[in-house]
Amino acid sequence: MTRAPADSNTATRPRWPEAVRAWPVWHLESRLRAYVIIVIAAGAAALAVAVALTPWRLSDAILYAFLLAFGAITVEAIRPVGESAGSNKDAHGVWQLAAAILLPPFYALAAAVLVIALSQWRVRRSLAYRRVFSAAAVGLSYGAASLAFHAAWHRPALAPSGHAGLLAWGPLTWMLLAIAVGCLRWTLNSALVLTAVRLAEPSARIRDLLGGNDGLYNDIAEGCVGVLVALSAAVSPLMLIVALPCGTLLQRSARHSQLVQASRTDAKTGLLSAVTWQREAAVQVARSIRTRTPLSVAMVDIDHFKAVNDTYGHLAGDGVLQAVARILTAGMREYDLAGRFGGEEFTLLLPHADAAEAIRIAERLRVALAAIPILAAAEQPPDDPPHITVSIGVASIVEGVTDLTDLLAAADTALYRAKRSGRNAVRLAGSPPPAS
Ligand code: GH3
Ligand code: MG
Ligand code: MG
Repeated sequence: MTRAPADSNTATRPRWPEAVRAWPVWHLESRLRAYVIIVIAAGAAALAVAVALTPWRLSDAILYAFLLAFGAITVEAIRPVGESAGSNKDAHGVWQLAAAILLPPFYALAAAVLVIALSQWRVRRSLAYRRVFSAAAVGLSYGAASLAFHAAWHRPALAPSGHAGLLAWGPLTWMLLAIAVGCLRWTLNSALVLTAVRLAEPSARIRDLLGGNDGLYNDIAEGCVGVLVALSAAVSPLMLIVALPCGTLLQRSARHSQLVQASRTDAKTGLLSAVTWQREAAVQVARSIRTRTPLSVAMVDIDHFKAVNDTYGHLAGDGVLQAVARILTAGMREYDLAGRFGGEEFTLLLPHADAAEAIRIAERLRVALAAIPILAAAEQPPDDPPHITVSIGVASIVEGVTDLTDLLAAADTALYRAKRSGRNAVRLAGSPPPAS
């Protein structure tokens, strides 16, 4: 008896239990994995409860269809500029907030799933668990905002006509409540997402994760336009046609500020790029010389970095560069500037630091950086991994320094002396070598 050849698809494709076991979510660190799964489960449970409790009305479905179309167009608006791998600012909240305010909570919960599925399909393929986690976090926060809004009016759910009535009762109260639930949504969403990021990356700074002032301004604008869109849609879904350009414009401007930020920073480390660092440092050096206030620069160079690459691979080397950037950022003051000068060299601008203070900062950073382990890619970290060391050259404004170029040249000479002295050392420009 001859057998039919095995179906090549079934022969190579893993059966579903194996496919599930291969999901990247299982490879997350245990606390992060537990957190991600809990948030996803909470999102799914909230959606199931909302399905069971929602009063289905045609008027709600029509308004929702308008809002979904609005959302789909704002997703399309970012396709030309794409989405970056990290966290992204967008303006989907404009129509999601309107759905949360105008419709029962189910619609806002489901909207999060739909917009994130659309982003995955149309804008950028990302790891599925990240998308599902985002959908759950966004859905839960808008669902809670919707619940709070409706609970505040002592009504289980409001149809657009109900809102029109309420507007007559007091648009100011309505607006204040809409703003309050918008703030609640923002707080919940930020807390859910930032907890995950901090579990993955404990040294990440909350301010950076929120996108700094630009990010905050974007969120405020998104919330305000969301309230206006809700207000106009409460009068008539057709009003959304007039509101649409505001939503798409906001979407593009949110991405624009991210692209500007990306052009200022070094992609691998997130520090300022060499060009940006030099431009900003030059201004501060000129000001310090003019006003006779102290200022120092430091050049940090990883010791024997070529050997790190050659021994452990370039990915391990990149991991070291990223760890150096994190530690530099965490160990510096708010007004210091760190940049990636090139390769494995970093520059620090330390305003208001005289030579003694700069040496103290550099020594502290040298010790902190020497704790960075070298981890070979795709390998369980050994109990006692090897560590890097760095050499640092420091130069301060003294008589005769006329600009940043002078300071960098002096710091470079000091760095050379640190290397010559045997590496893993800090040297100050112009000072005699320490007695050994
Ligand atoms: P020294 O102690 O004298 O500074 O020696 P070194 O090996 O650190 O210096 P060298 O200038 O010989 O080598 C620098 C190395 O940095 C060579 C280059 O491959 C590596 N490098 C530069 N940029 C990157 C990067 O982005 N990623 C990785 N992994 N390596 C990089
Ligand atoms: Mg070098
Ligand atoms: Mg080096």
